[in-house]
Amino acid sequence: MTAAEPSPSALDALQAVLPGDAVRAGRDSDAIAGHVPSWVAAPPDEASLRDVLTWARQQQQAVAPVGGRTQLAIGNPPDRLDGIVSTQRLSGIVDYPAGDLTITVRAGTTAAEIAETVEAEGQWSPLDALSGDSTVGGLLAVGQSGPWRPGLGALRDQVLETRVVHPDGRVTRSGARVVKNVTGYDLNKLFIGSLGTLGVLTEVCLRLRPRPEATATLLLGTTDALTAAEITALLRRAGLDPTGLAFVSPRHDAPVIDRPPGVVLGLLKLAGAAADVAWLRDNISTELPAGTTWTLLEEPEVEEPIWQWLRVHLRRETTLSGRLGTLPMQAGTLAASLPVEVDWVLRPWEGVVDWYWSGPTEQAAEISAAIHVAAQAHQAGRLLIHAPSAVKASGDVFGERPPGFETMRGLRDAFDPERVLNPGRFLHGL
Ligand SMILES: Cc1cc2nc3c(=O)[nH]c(=O)nc-3n(C[C@H](O)[C@H](O)[C@H](O)COP(=O)(O)OP(=O)(O)OC[C@H]3O[C@@H](n4cnc5c(N)ncnc54)[C@H](O)[C@@H]3O)c2cc1C
Repeated sequence: MTAAEPSPSALDALQAVLPGDAVRAGRDSDAIAGHVPSWVAAPPDEASLRDVLTWARQQQQAVAPVGGRTQLAIGNPPDRLDGIVSTQRLSGIVDYPAGDLTITVRAGTTAAEIAETVEAEGQWSPLDALSGDSTVGGLLAVGQSGPWRPGLGALRDQVLETRVVHPDGRVTRSGARVVKNVTGYDLNKLFIGSLGTLGVLTEVCLRLRPRPEATATLLLGTTDALTAAEITALLRRAGLDPTGLAFVSPRHDAPVIDRPPGVVLGLLKLAGAAADVAWLRDNISTELPAGTTWTLLEEPEVEEPIWQWLRVHLRRETTLSGRLGTLPMQAGTLAASLPVEVDWVLRPWEGVVDWYWSGPTEQAAEISAAIHVAAQAHQAGRLLIHAPSAVKASGDVFGERPPGFETMRGLRDAFDPERVLNPGRFLHGL
């Protein structure tokens, strides 16, 4: 679907709202799920973003907020798309009182910028981004946590304050720049994971952490997903709180580690008290199931490339990919029940299985159906991320309609009754 010639009036009208080079005609490279926008606007501040949204609403335009474009695949195909509001110019640090362990940034600020800024102060960013190009606005809009969620906590719990602009021009500020702040409804949590359907995030205040005293990564070689679940159980019994724990199915090539074929690779990240790392060093060999190999890495410069490899791995594009969520104790059997030709990354601490399949398009519907059956057998929630458009069109990528759906529709109606923002992309047509 190539770029529809923008009706000169639309572009001219928008240029009247946002003068200068902040508005341009859409290009094929701006496409979202095959839909090419006729215009792209990059407002330099919140007030002009608000003007663009209210104009779009008056003109019944369908708009997609866009950050770093690192995950536009997520969601159902849009019902329609007229324009893109990019947060590219809405970036930068607003306030960083390092001593308070908080940072306030504009929503177009990338995860890499934030990490660099806070690491210079000996602190850790809570974003754990798979891609440094992801913006904080995009990360929150998708709301998915990284492989270090066990240690860093869920993304939504790291947000202290947000500012959101709605299509009717209202601006909602919720929370405050202090650690204990929520009075009334916790609106922050409402906007996180809402895929940009309730408003456009413009500013975010995040909770930071001091850099840990000691870190280590334990590399494990084990036989299968069930043994991975066993190892997780022993870590729980040992009272260890991993920062990250992931097991990678055998078929994946892991250039950063020489791994014999057929071996499930385990990565355990510990970050915190030196005593925990010492316990691991002194006790792990006696605790692990027979046949499990291990290597303990204690230099961040050796550890980081391995986690970076996993992050790149987690966001790679394949014919089909998705995320399954189940009870932590069931995650191992769920991964083990997937079709053998499907690759997986198992995060047993959270009960998450990310899966990938790189086969011919014509076989995709069959594989997707087999994943669905496995998910149902484990009462697992499912999210289809990458898939041929015919497979995405054959069902809802967010799985079954969740309880409380009518209340969700009520919220969507309250914030965006004309469906200006990302129409059709969220669950079941929301
Ligand atoms: C299952 C799954 C697991 C993931 N796990 C991780 C993970 O572990 N760690 C990680 O870093 N990433 C993870 N991601 C990817 C991550 O969520 C995206 O890379 C990130 O959200 C994209 O940020 P972006 O700025 O590139 O946004 P874009 O790709 O540009 O946009 C992504 C979505 O957010 C909306 N959006 C963008 N900016 C705003 C805004 N300011 N206000 C409102 N809506 C906006 C867009 O409309 C779009 O729907 C995961 C994604 C999925 C689907």
